[in-house]
Amino acid sequence: MPIRCTTDARLALLLLFALLASAVARAQAPPPTAVPPPDLAFIDTGIENASPLWYERGDDGAYRVHLLYDHERDSPNRAAGHIHFRMVGRPGAPITLEFVNLDNVWNGQPGSVAGELKTVALSADGTTWTTVPTDTLPGNRIRVTVTMPAGGVLHLARMQPYRLSDLDRLVAKARASAHAEVTTIGATVQGRPLEIIRIGRGDEPRRVFLRARAHPWESGSSWVMQGLVERLLGDDAEAARWRGQFTVYVLPMANKDGVARGGTRFNVNGKDLNRNWDRPVDQALVPENAALERWLEGMIAGGRKPDLAIELHNDGRGLLHLSRPPVPGLDEHLARMARLEAILRERTWFTEGHTEGAFRNSGTLGDGWLERYGIDALVHELNANRVEGRKAFTSAALWQEYGAALPAVFEVYFRDR
Ligand SMILES: [Zn+2]
Repeated sequence: MPIRCTTDARLALLLLFALLASAVARAQAPPPTAVPPPDLAFIDTGIENASPLWYERGDDGAYRVHLLYDHERDSPNRAAGHIHFRMVGRPGAPITLEFVNLDNVWNGQPGSVAGELKTVALSADGTTWTTVPTDTLPGNRIRVTVTMPAGGVLHLARMQPYRLSDLDRLVAKARASAHAEVTTIGATVQGRPLEIIRIGRGDEPRRVFLRARAHPWESGSSWVMQGLVERLLGDDAEAARWRGQFTVYVLPMANKDGVARGGTRFNVNGKDLNRNWDRPVDQALVPENAALERWLEGMIAGGRKPDLAIELHNDGRGLLHLSRPPVPGLDEHLARMARLEAILRERTWFTEGHTEGAFRNSGTLGDGWLERYGIDALVHELNANRVEGRKAFTSAALWQEYGAALPAVFEVYFRDR
């Protein structure tokens, strides 16, 4: 018992000493201050059409955003360039972002997308967007410094996003219109329905087909489609006149799976929807194109071959790609395309021009449909950074304006044929 009493007393003394020591330490420590919130709390990719990525803070304080590559099946080709995410951080904080993985491979050749990534779009609310320039650094590096808005949330995108939900609203509008018909021609690899919007009755003297968004990052092309469809659905006399002259068939989002996944270029089987049109489509790997090929061949069999087919894309130049496969009547085709370009220059903000020389990009829809079906087909790139004809950065409003101006272009093109 005496021994135990001694132990208890020692323990009590030790405890008392520890308490005293901690009180003294507290009294000597500086008063606690609130930890300031980090400039960038996190990057959120849990939003519709967000790009897959990961990020880290570099020693220089800049955030390196590692875009994940899309890879092409059985090919060295890879692509990263779709950018869409939401940042949460301290209001007023400057945030520098550097985009990584811009060394893409196209057509088997190394090439960086950094050279054409000259702008990005910003939005505090995900609805109203402003396009700003990026900074190009040596070594294919792109940076942009942004200021977090008052709400502490900032959306950043390559261009103003056009998501599946935007398309769903457009398709619903077309379904509700007396001037349009929506036909599901097939489905994507993941089973998403592919709709062609037909505006006009289908028995007008001329037919135009347009497709957009074979490449998921190219949202500008979808905004052009939206402008075109909405203009043609109008109840005004001009729209009625156009609908009497030509039927317009629109496939506004060819690569729906890619858009849903925030991808850059390929379908989920790793196939490029703007390639391999020089041969029959592989249904198993590319059901998106197989559905379109069936539709087209049905149209041709029914005596309704399109008179003009335009495949819309975005890139850093915005040229018309006038391909030259060895087909009869190539010179006449090129003459018609030159006239189309002249009308575009006259009736829209288009100023960019066309590919020069013996250009050929076989397997694109433009080249393949011309070669296999004798259709006046072309790839129409749209500059992703700048609308030179308006001396402005790109915007959804300018894309839609371009689409809304296309019916007048078709009217003149067909009238003068
Ligand atoms: Zn493209």
